[in-house]
Amino acid sequence: MQVRKEIQISGVVQGVGFRPYVYRLATDRHLHGNISNTPAGVTIEIQGPLDLVEDFLLHLPGEAPALAHITDVLVREMPCKLDRCFEILPSHTGEHASALISPDVAVCEDCLRELFDPRDRRHLYPFINCTNCGPRFTIMRDVPYDRPRTSMSAFSMCHNCQTEYEDPLNRRFHAQPNACWECGPELEFWNSQGCPIKPLDPIEAAVERLRLGEILAVKGLGGFHFAVDARNSAAVERLRQRKGRVEKPFAVMVRDLEAAGRFCEIDAEASRLLSGRQRPIVLLPKTKGTAIVETVAPSQGDLGLFLPYTPLHHLLFAAGKFTALVMTSGNLSEEPIAIDNREAVERLGSIADFFLVHAREILLRCDDSVIRPSAGRPRQIRRSRGYVPAPVRLHKELPQILAVGGELKNTVCLTRRNLAFLSQHIGDLENIESFDFLRDAIRYLSRILEIEPEVIAHDLHPDYLSTKWALAQKAVRLVGVQHHHAHIAACMAENRIDGRVIGLALDGTGYGTDGQIWGGEALLAGYASFERAAHFVYTALPGGAAAIREPWRMAVSHLAQTFGEDFLGLDIPFVRELERGKAELILRMIAQRVNSPLTSSCGRLFDAVAALIGIRQTVSYEAQAAIELEMSARSSTEKGSYPLAIHRQDEHWQIDSSPLFGAIVEDLCRKVCTETISRRFHNGLVETLVRLACLLRQGSSINQICLSGGTFNNLLVFEHLVHKLEHHNFNVFTHSEVPAGDGGLSLGQALVAAHSASAEPHISDGRISCS
Ligand SMILES: [Zn+2]
Ligand SMILES: [Zn+2]
Ligand SMILES: [Zn+2]
Repeated sequence: MQVRKEIQISGVVQGVGFRPYVYRLATDRHLHGNISNTPAGVTIEIQGPLDLVEDFLLHLPGEAPALAHITDVLVREMPCKLDRCFEILPSHTGEHASALISPDVAVCEDCLRELFDPRDRRHLYPFINCTNCGPRFTIMRDVPYDRPRTSMSAFSMCHNCQTEYEDPLNRRFHAQPNACWECGPELEFWNSQGCPIKPLDPIEAAVERLRLGEILAVKGLGGFHFAVDARNSAAVERLRQRKGRVEKPFAVMVRDLEAAGRFCEIDAEASRLLSGRQRPIVLLPKTKGTAIVETVAPSQGDLGLFLPYTPLHHLLFAAGKFTALVMTSGNLSEEPIAIDNREAVERLGSIADFFLVHAREILLRCDDSVIRPSAGRPRQIRRSRGYVPAPVRLHKELPQILAVGGELKNTVCLTRRNLAFLSQHIGDLENIESFDFLRDAIRYLSRILEIEPEVIAHDLHPDYLSTKWALAQKAVRLVGVQHHHAHIAACMAENRIDGRVIGLALDGTGYGTDGQIWGGEALLAGYASFERAAHFVYTALPGGAAAIREPWRMAVSHLAQTFGEDFLGLDIPFVRELERGKAELILRMIAQRVNSPLTSSCGRLFDAVAALIGIRQTVSYEAQAAIELEMSARSSTEKGSYPLAIHRQDEHWQIDSSPLFGAIVEDLCRKVCTETISRRFHNGLVETLVRLACLLRQGSSINQICLSGGTFNNLLVFEHLVHKLEHHNFNVFTHSEVPAGDGGLSLGQALVAAHSASAEPHISDGRISCS
């Protein structure tokens, strides 16, 4: 019996070799019909004997190309037609925005084989790609995703490339960046002033310079990298000096998994993440006696490793026989990474000795993503290249909303139906360059996703540049969202849960509804509202931002809160080494409330402890003291813990850290070692949080608990807390797809704004989901 069915498929199915795949699947079974791109994805009409059509349907989702991501499949019966073959129809509607756009993808195995095959016409061609790999997001100018609307429009395909491009059975059918030696971009080698140097082979020239310990700026997929040989300490040191990056660790690109294993402990999950097509930087524990020079990641237990992801990276490793290269963002301190050749020379010329560039433009920058696996699950630290603009799928449909995120590690989020599109990492909005990037990203994403927001959600902090931008937009409804409420809503959204939760939101800084700086918060929250159920006792932040850069100020603040000014008489190293004049000034600032806002910050509590026990008095990058405190604690197996008190005050609970500081001072007097003290602090914090969660459950009968905020990047706190909460039968939800830190805020803001809107979101209809 002949049947004909129409199959509508939504998801990432355009520009990823999906139509040729379906063509083969149909023709192998001698089925007739057609396939065409539609606004939402593709539509297939398939006709033939019932058993073969059913077989076709069975195999359709399972064997789809690597880059395809099917979200919905709708099948309906149709009357039979007279077609005698299977055809790929031209797209009448064009490849439209509501079809999902693929992120940039690491070079695939097939292309790599060709790259190193002397008989292949693309032998050693640095821009080899196919429908299964290569740039997408960063070369798109507009939708539909078609060559004229990419930065490859500057190159016209040669006869051979054009033939591949038009052949439905070819791996390069409609591969928009398709190119070869004859027709595509080529590498150029420039000196630091941007003057081209004409060596025979730019790769050989670059490798030669790297071997000499010089700094190379390399144009990558989403921006420039600085590269140096990771085993050359003088080169690494010079890069640090020139970049003004004193201690913040560098990421290291390693030749392959075998090389990765020489530097870090690689388990199955780590190998999977490292070799996945997104190729994120994966934070992994260093092996003992690792061959990476200490200056790459000073005082760190972990190292950020990643594998080569462009053909160019592979060529550098192959030609130079390097094991590992430092590959760090091509930028000046906190500015966005450079993407344009001339801009790169201007901005990076004082750092790089040479440039390896090409004429394929990067249209939107996209930093490397960073992931830290925990208990067999990936956890996003920075969600960017390889993941963006793939959406986070929600369990309900939202109106079109733009959420502009916070201040640090900013991302923005746009929503459409049940999809949330988070932007790439925009960075810390502390300079005009980052602010420009924010505006560009909003403009670009709204355009390619064809989203016109009805609502803009922003942080409550009036001075954040993201808030200021939002407040300047007149035509739409604005919704201010409290920072920690956004954290918890992001965690709920990612886990697709509803109702009310106990939300533990622990981080450094977030503007509170009382105008104070919150950061150690327990909320009873749903999407629409929250109640502040508990927080750390307020402590002065003497000097405001200066106290964040100088953790010793927080130690003084906490000691003064615990002991009064008598703490200056304590016989402990911290007090002995404290400059009296400076300490007295801080105490006066606190007493007179001069530039000393109050904070319940958990991050600052870590800072205070780190300073007090001599780990770090000042920091050169965010969370440095907390990271080093965690590392110190991880080297101890101590089971003991310090007490923190929980009091009931003014309708909510307060966590009082005075007993903790009393106990630490006693241990310091007894000369207990730093690692033991760090560990007791971590243990005490976790036990207190569990106790608090139980109290909140008693009072509210809520058993689902969400953990969010940058503090949960601390694996010692995170893993132990999850374990203990589960032991107490809590239903624990955490982050995996979006960062627990401020990179995930925009998602939460969007959800909160949606629920404060008059248009109530509704559960998405019950279509078949194949994701
Ligand atoms: Zn490929
Ligand atoms: Zn060509
Ligand atoms: Zn935060």
